Amino acid sequence: MKVFILKETTVICPKCELNFATTQVAKMPKISHESRVEADLHRVLPDGAVRASLIAMCPECLYTWWLSAFAHSIMLPQMVPDAPPVDNAKKFGHAVLSARKHGLHSLDRAIIALNGYWCAREDFQPAGKWLELAARELDEALKDESWYGNRGRYHHIMGEVLRLMGDFHGAVRHYSLVDNRSMLPRELIEHQIAEAKAGNSAPTLLPQEIVEQIFLDKKPIRKPESGMSIAQSDVLAHGA
Ligand SMILES: [Zn+2]
Repeated sequence: MKVFILKETTVICPKCELNFATTQVAKMPKISHESRVEADLHRVLPDGAVRASLIAMCPECLYTWWLSAFAHSIMLPQMVPDAPPVDNAKKFGHAVLSARKHGLHSLDRAIIALNGYWCAREDFQPAGKWLELAARELDEALKDESWYGNRGRYHHIMGEVLRLMGDFHGAVRHYSLVDNRSMLPRELIEHQIAEAKAGNSAPTLLPQEIVEQIFLDKKPIRKPESGMSIAQSDVLAHGA
């Protein structure tokens, strides 16, 4: 059955070494033809709680980051303090603050902000402020020439963010910078350019064949981890 299961686990804060209990995704169905994926390359999760469980927040020093960066503890979750009761999307706001405090790259912050936007949508909350934050961080990241990665893909995501914000000229400018190395289907880029030119700021749900080409293609390209956005797995692959 296609179900998402969350469970409690104990992790150790890498900053203050406190053991604390947090939720983690214990089971997540693999991405398939039936998965809902939007044109900004994120998979729509059934609940903001699922996405929020991909990050952990220390109740002592408030350090917040991808759960995968926290070591697991052998202590039972019932025996240790709980993570703070913070709204799902707000956890991503704390993660952006942690990233700033610890001097992490704007691309890391942009990906966190994008996840905050997706999380807010999954919880049916207003998402405009998240888009603005993601746009600011992505803009800073793309202006930095020093990092190596799939820049075309981030131009595409920036195009989507700007289109969703109603900045259609800015969107087209970024879609035009998407190169073949982005490994994104040309028809997707052309479709999104047409959407921007038509003044459509609504999210685009990708048709099955495009999801297939990007996520399930048999070509030997690096695949995103199940359940993560392409962007997130890209950063995880960069060792964040
Ligand atoms: Zn801590």
